[in-house]
Amino acid sequence: MFRVKRNDQVMVISGKDRGKKGKVLTLFPENSRATVEGLNIVKRHLKKSQANPQGAILSKEAPLPLDRILPVCPRCNRGVRVGFKLLPDGAKTRICRRCQETF
Ligand SMILES: [Zn+2]
Repeated sequence: MFRVKRNDQVMVISGKDRGKKGKVLTLFPENSRATVEGLNIVKRHLKKSQANPQGAILSKEAPLPLDRILPVCPRCNRGVRVGFKLLPDGAKTRICRRCQETF
């Protein structure tokens, strides 16, 4: 089980977007990466085509390694280390290592 899920609020802990928060758009479990809305934007230059006679620049979120993002605890309102806790019904939930909030 991954610490981060789709639609999670996460915080970037290193790199040029360090300290910024965003929402997880897509998870790529096979290479432990995720795209986060508005973060790690890369610009791609598109070749001139009939649709874009001048060419175009496309801004797109590039996947970030999961070890560079942390889930944001709703109570701490910051990226936190999480553990996992087993609920009575057998489901797993995350627990904030800072304030013990489950989320
Ligand atoms: Zn917390």
